Amino acid sequence: MNISDILYHLGEEREAYFNAIAPPIIQSSNFMFKDIEDLKAKMSDELNHHVYTRGNNPTAEILRKKMAALEKTEDALVVSSGATAIAAAVIANVSSGDHVICVQKPYSWTGKLISKFLSRFGVTYDFVNARDTENIRAAIKPNTRVLMLESPNSLTFEMQDLEACAILAKENQIVTVIDNSHCSPLFQNPALHGIDLVVHTATKYLNGHSDVVMGIICGSSSMIRKIFQSEFMTLGLNVSPHDAFLAIRGLRTLPLRVQRSEQTGAAIVSHLTGHPKVSRIYYPFHATNPQLELAKKQMTGAGGLLTIELNTTSKAKVNDFVNALDKFMLAVSWGGYESLKMPTLAFYDIPGQDDPPLPFQLVRLYAGLEEADFLIENLEKALSVI
Ligand SMILES: *Cc1c(COP(=O)(O)O)cnc(C)c1O
Repeated sequence: MNISDILYHLGEEREAYFNAIAPPIIQSSNFMFKDIEDLKAKMSDELNHHVYTRGNNPTAEILRKKMAALEKTEDALVVSSGATAIAAAVIANVSSGDHVICVQKPYSWTGKLISKFLSRFGVTYDFVNARDTENIRAAIKPNTRVLMLESPNSLTFEMQDLEACAILAKENQIVTVIDNSHCSPLFQNPALHGIDLVVHTATKYLNGHSDVVMGIICGSSSMIRKIFQSEFMTLGLNVSPHDAFLAIRGLRTLPLRVQRSEQTGAAIVSHLTGHPKVSRIYYPFHATNPQLELAKKQMTGAGGLLTIELNTTSKAKVNDFVNALDKFMLAVSWGGYESLKMPTLAFYDIPGQDDPPLPFQLVRLYAGLEEADFLIENLEKALSVI
């Protein structure tokens, strides 16, 4: 389906609500039945009828249909955060005694889900360097049930060969889950490579306005139904109708925003390539990326995230750079309209904690919707203090 059709028409039944262009926020916890027969029919398939907002709310359902179409899957679920989406997709497919394989440097809460949370319930795990699919093959055990992917990750952009991972997993009856947040559905559709469940944080690009926390799970009808009937309904993973409305509004401009962010990110990368104050650039489409060919094969864009390594041996200089870069706000997250900075130095010298396995000279930048020249000028000013 054409992307304009998905973003502006799919799932919207305007005649049902006064021909309003914008969808209504159906702020109702429950829905009335005509008679007992009607009640019985709808209760037997809550996923596709309006019974109770912990299940299927009409405003959230519009978003659900659009997300399934964007990821080219049969169905989707809208859940309360990206972390929720990852947790539900993994938990739905493991039981006590099972084994999970996960990429080496996943999103922090994905790592905690597997190493701290699931381990309490007798699920064992291995984190593997999945840039080489052979490392995944070597980690497969008879009880491996889930392969958790994230390609690329959102700090150093390591990737997995999605097609090879899907083939290997299918041969071994392993469910594949991928965190596709970095690419958004615009730049990568893992289901087309055979991945089973595609999860997103909608907090980042999808909503895009830094005012909603939300997650999405996309997959086949049967996999989505399975998650709906277990994790979604028992744990209450639903979103508020108002947040669903905001995310639909954000999604209207997804291509405009993500393309703008991508162009600005690329302009920053090209400006900083060869810069004497920058010793390395991490960016999926950078000439120095050892996985450049894989990026070209399975991604059609990179978005606005990039990481630079500052050419200094001084933590104080990194600190000065971060302070001087005043048009990039110091905050977690990314994918909104505002440019952000996140130095690895922030995770150094924390009492009782090991320093991270990454150099303190790294600063992740997110290019928001500002003018490229405005951001580059600010970067030049900040680099001059090193
Ligand atoms: C932010 C983020 C998440 C978690 O999403 P929340 O909506 O904050 O729960 C998961 N994966 C990636 C890559 C992220 O950047």
